[in-house]
Amino acid sequence: MNVYDGMRIAAMLRARGMTETSELSDADIIILNTCSVREKATDKVFSALGRIRLAKKPSALLGIVGCVAREVGSGAFRRVPELNFVLGPQSYHKLPQILDNPDSPLLNIDLGGLEKFDEMPQMDSSPAVAYIPIQEGCNHVCTYCIVPFTRGREISRPYADVVRDTKHAAQTGAIEICFLGQNVNGYKYENYRLSDLIRAAATLPKIKRIRFTSSYPTEMTDDLIEMFAIEPKLLPFLNMPIQSGSPDVLKRMNRPYSLDSYIDIVNKLRVARPDIQISSDFIVGFPGESDDDFQQTMDIAQRIKYINSFTFKYSPRPHTAAAIMPDQVPENIKKERLYKLDAMLSEIQREFNVSCVGKTLECLCEGADKTGKHTIYRTPYMQQCIVNIDPNTAPQMAKIKITNANKASLRGEFA
Ligand code: SF4
Repeated sequence: MNVYDGMRIAAMLRARGMTETSELSDADIIILNTCSVREKATDKVFSALGRIRLAKKPSALLGIVGCVAREVGSGAFRRVPELNFVLGPQSYHKLPQILDNPDSPLLNIDLGGLEKFDEMPQMDSSPAVAYIPIQEGCNHVCTYCIVPFTRGREISRPYADVVRDTKHAAQTGAIEICFLGQNVNGYKYENYRLSDLIRAAATLPKIKRIRFTSSYPTEMTDDLIEMFAIEPKLLPFLNMPIQSGSPDVLKRMNRPYSLDSYIDIVNKLRVARPDIQISSDFIVGFPGESDDDFQQTMDIAQRIKYINSFTFKYSPRPHTAAAIMPDQVPENIKKERLYKLDAMLSEIQREFNVSCVGKTLECLCEGADKTGKHTIYRTPYMQQCIVNIDPNTAPQMAKIKITNANKASLRGEFA
């Protein structure tokens, strides 16, 4: 979602005749698009602001947008007096106000609903993946999560608006559509659900791949699961965070599903699409997490064989219930658990990558690798595959035979 927001802000400034620069000292406006999901991310924003205010030219406008802006509000001006604007994740479309009136500090952290989607110009799709937000906010109240505070209650965009944006993306070069939302499979507009949006996107001949993120387990309804069986453009890859394998921890996290019901959903998905791969987010060291609780997380990760997962040490966030729970887990134990889980997930990933060797997969071009000489393709399971072809002549979609694999990436050649 933050990548999308960043692209949208850049498009808005481009429409006003501005161009991007990689030189801080050249910039007329510097915007930090921020994430507050972990304490470390918030701290990084303020240390970056400290560096930037010394390096920028005196006349440059400096501001933060996104969830840290919403979290800190007017306090940001007190911490960094050089700031010109502080705009929350639902008010960054107000940015032109600071360009028109640079001498007045601008603060807006309102939860304005869908206004930003209506007020900003449509983006052209470049490169081939179009991120299309379909809902914002979240009605689940996981006890560790600041998102309901920073992004507000769930609100779904009108079906017709999403379809219009999807068509526009296809017309301007998109090959892959990624529907976005904090609780993307909770999308509900009148009688329309996410499965209807997938069906509509799949009718567009230029769209070859469809995916969505991030999903909440209990919103994985049968109509959506069925899409994996009947819609070949829907990629066989799903991020469905379990967070913990311990029923006790899940209860304290206020994640109201049992392990059995979660496994049941995974089994249904695997019946619908036998090659589907599941990814998860995990939090280790949640308050009160015992060794046994952690072992249950290791067990479920091994059982489901998650790939491409995200792991985090629990970090207390303001405005959340877990921050004041007793039995906070010491940092060294969190670190140790994170290390163990990462090591196991990385081995599962390596095994999966190796199992792909010899297969031919339809992949999407992502651009040049670091050397600029090879091309990175993205498989249907979101692995990176490096192909020895000049990025300037690489086709956007290609059948690639996987020739080699390690835990981080694949190597391949045109089939
Ligand atoms: S479902 Fe996700 S976004 Fe919503 S409160 Fe839980 S962790 Fe946060």
